[in-house]
Amino acid sequence: MIQTDICIIGAGPVGQFAVFEAGLLKLRCHLVDALPQVGGQLSEIYPQKPIYDIPGYPTIKAQELVDNLTEQIKPFNPTYTLGERLDAVEKTATGFNLRTSDGTEIDCKVVVIAGGLGCFEPRKPPLKEIANFEGKGVSYMVKDPELFRDKNVILAGGGDSALDWTIELSKIAKKITLVHRNETFRGAPDSADKVFELAKEGKINLLLKSNLESISGNGKLNSVKIKGADKSEMEIEADYLIPLFGLSPKLGPIADWGLSIHKNQIEVNTTDYSTNVPGIYAIGDINTYPGKLKLILCGFHEAALMAQSAFKHIYPEKHLSFKYTTVNGIESF
Ligand SMILES: Cc1cc2nc3c(=O)[nH]c(=O)nc-3n(C[C@H](O)[C@H](O)[C@H](O)COP(=O)(O)OP(=O)(O)OC[C@H]3O[C@@H](n4cnc5c(N)ncnc54)[C@H](O)[C@@H]3O)c2cc1C
Repeated sequence: MIQTDICIIGAGPVGQFAVFEAGLLKLRCHLVDALPQVGGQLSEIYPQKPIYDIPGYPTIKAQELVDNLTEQIKPFNPTYTLGERLDAVEKTATGFNLRTSDGTEIDCKVVVIAGGLGCFEPRKPPLKEIANFEGKGVSYMVKDPELFRDKNVILAGGGDSALDWTIELSKIAKKITLVHRNETFRGAPDSADKVFELAKEGKINLLLKSNLESISGNGKLNSVKIKGADKSEMEIEADYLIPLFGLSPKLGPIADWGLSIHKNQIEVNTTDYSTNVPGIYAIGDINTYPGKLKLILCGFHEAALMAQSAFKHIYPEKHLSFKYTTVNGIESF
């Protein structure tokens, strides 16, 4: 069981910066994210795009901002549960008990929801048997590449994730097949060139103008049938199938936690970004209030005010005096 002062749901830029603001007040944080990496929309949707409205940076690439935030919060030793969705929140005598999709339990005094647009749910191929094989050979993300060492792996998709993982896993898998419905890729041209090169060298099996047709196995994935645009069919043995058709955000389980929700966003009090449930705050894109702007810098401001209020919630008897970092510096713990 993980124990912490604040559990932050969502490791996007706002969740990350909340660790910093809480850390200044010596509050420990644990971050949970359904994605296998930190950075939220920035890392998942637009890592290479330049952002122009982060104060102090005339321009900064989205992934660089995420990397800087990761560095900035290191002194406060945040802990992470990545690749797991936060499913359930229960009130306890001392705060909250939280549970993830993989059964990880977290005990905390305060919950901060920094869930952005919600959980990014994978777009699944329309194969009627697929649900029976999820976790038994079918996986929609790569959490630990080592799982695929010396295995027969089929990837499907034409975007950056499909290309990048084809290249990475080709270094360790026994056999890699990439299935894509078109002849060209949506992903970065450099990565597409690399994939074509790997196919030419015989290091991967590249099936273009092809679609997943069906999957079969006995309790565990065994083979995948693939159909070409010319109606030809082939069955390929597979230990794993990784369809990478993109992600779409859904509010998900947060909708069931008794919070006041308006149009898929959590209503908050703008004095401290608290919700209608004492001890639960909502910051960043996930919240709504009159005049709300879904901007990273607005989320940073909300994180600062939330941390002050969370401190008072945890230690109602303690006096909190406001101090600049230029005066106190950063005290790591
Ligand atoms: C293409 C594009 C360009 C943009 N450009 C700019 C810009 O120039 N300037 C600017 O300020 N903003 C920009 N934005 C908006 C900016 O990205 C968002 O305001 C910002 O990402 C919000 O950060 P966040 O931390 O609140 O949420 P997010 O970045 O959405 O992160 C939320 C995280 O919470 C996780 N999550 C949600 N629910 C759960 C759950 N139940 N369990 C576990 N994890 C969960 C999600 O997986 C996600 O990783 C842009 C957005 C897009 C899409």
